[in-house]
Amino acid sequence: MKRVIGLLVLLLVCIAPAGEVSAASAAGSETVWVCGGPNSKRYHKSKNCKGLKRCSRNPKSLSKEEAKKKGYTPCKLCYK
Ligand SMILES: [Zn+2]
Repeated sequence: MKRVIGLLVLLLVCIAPAGEVSAASAAGSETVWVCGGPNSKRYHKSKNCKGLKRCSRNPKSLSKEEAKKKGYTPCKLCYK
């Protein structure tokens, strides 16, 4: 059963980014993810990014513009 759930999660991870990008571009501003921790300086394209796995808190979503305003810089894994 666990294996089935893992497969589903993997599928979602593969499908989600494409859907999010098209939805965000339609809305005009891109949604990004940041870790709520005090040492987080990066914003991420996806909440499933490896860089967010180390985050001890729940990732929160905000618009890319807002993230830049708050001093976040793009994650090197998400924005190559
Ligand atoms: Zn990232």
